[in-house]
Amino acid sequence: MKTEELYALLRRRGVLWPTAEIYGGASGFFDYGPLGTALKRRIEDAWAAWFLGLSDDYYLIEPAEVLPEASVRASGHLENFTDPEVTCDQCQTAFRADTVLEKWRPDGIDGLSPEAIGALLREHAVHCPNCGSTRLSVPPPFNLMFPLDLGPTGRERGYLRPETAQDSYLAFPRMWDVGRRALPLGIAVIGKAYRNEIAPRQLLFRMRSFTQAELQIFFAEGAFPVPLASVESEIIPVVRAASRAAGTEDIQRVSVAELVASGIPDFYVFHLAHLLRFLRDVLGYPAESIRFFEKSDTERAFYNRIQFDAEVRVESLGGFREMGAVHYRGDYDLTRHGAGAKRDLSVALQSGERVLPHVLEVTFGVDRNLWALADTHLVVEGERTVWKLPPHLAPVSVGVFPLLKKEHAAMAQEIRRRLFAAGMRVEYDAAGSIGKRYARMDEAGTPFCITIDGATLDPASPDHGTVTVRERDSKAQRRVAVESVEAAISGPLRLPRPSA
Ligand SMILES: [Zn+2]
Repeated sequence: MKTEELYALLRRRGVLWPTAEIYGGASGFFDYGPLGTALKRRIEDAWAAWFLGLSDDYYLIEPAEVLPEASVRASGHLENFTDPEVTCDQCQTAFRADTVLEKWRPDGIDGLSPEAIGALLREHAVHCPNCGSTRLSVPPPFNLMFPLDLGPTGRERGYLRPETAQDSYLAFPRMWDVGRRALPLGIAVIGKAYRNEIAPRQLLFRMRSFTQAELQIFFAEGAFPVPLASVESEIIPVVRAASRAAGTEDIQRVSVAELVASGIPDFYVFHLAHLLRFLRDVLGYPAESIRFFEKSDTERAFYNRIQFDAEVRVESLGGFREMGAVHYRGDYDLTRHGAGAKRDLSVALQSGERVLPHVLEVTFGVDRNLWALADTHLVVEGERTVWKLPPHLAPVSVGVFPLLKKEHAAMAQEIRRRLFAAGMRVEYDAAGSIGKRYARMDEAGTPFCITIDGATLDPASPDHGTVTVRERDSKAQRRVAVESVEAAISGPLRLPRPSA
């Protein structure tokens, strides 16, 4: 589907809409409706079940969304969290410099000074994407954090957090004290982050308020044992930085052993393989739509020693888009916060040795994956629009319909109550033809529908005591005994967990 078509469908179904829509919306902000909220929760739950399932020593915490100025100064965000901007002196529109220069610098403009960007604009006689003028200029760097005045005097400065990762770094000393005092220690956060994007675009792909799910794992350098054998069967689709430098962006499918042999550490490959499994087996992206794009020395942030972005092909956004990443950040974060807070953040291992932990970061963008799940799984088949979400992600697990509104209501309500009590998300629908009710559920991604009809209640019928269970993707229908309904559909609704 085209972006606009998909967006229109999601708005119409109440999945999401622009914030303050009656005022024309607010650029970069979206509200999720009932279906969108439920799906987003399912994605977050699935992420937590998967990544916290990798180790007993990985924990979820919920920090505040505001950071004091000293912490963002130490992390480098106050100084460096900027996106080069280009403004048009003719129409006064601001653009991201990388967008304006995409044609000439497809790999981005990381590391270029404002002067170098200005030179590129002149060299290529770049036109304003809005009005066509060549009167483009490069203003001083613009910080992407939202500042806050705390308290009535406003003398205290705070910032809406630009990423959830900082909270995990700041929580590390406390988590060490309250925990087992052992490494590795994983600290995960699922929550909002805020960036004052110069040009929010592509709907959920670049927002000013968005949800991240991130896991920071602290470990002693050279001592991060992982059960690599549990992923050794995986073939990882990679685009290596070295092959890109040699002129090819083709995906190479390499084994876990090959990746390790190429110099990527076990602990990194283990988490990369689990990110692959999560994207493919839990979110249901087709294997051929996933690739891990290695960032080169010059492309990645200087503190990242290894970086592969997890990219998924999103047709409505024009190709592969970053959905998450794995970053080996060394000891950069605790070094910076140790200096900023004037505290020794090293820890004593059981051996007595003191170490400043290194960090492996697994990132994941919840909103952009929600969009990608709509892009990938919402399909039009003739008259029918079906959202073929994996059943365990579906906002509504099961639709329950009385064939006739009055006659079959009592039994239908009883089944609805039972499935609801079993923890399923149930939608009761008695309105319109059965075909219309199926169509509504197909569009919402509901994997199962249950219909109670005359035969269910008729002691003389061979189908007495059974209901029709209809499966969304195949449209196949079967009769199932009333008492077995829950067992018949509960398997696919369970959230997958990693098998160790
Ligand atoms: Zn212009």
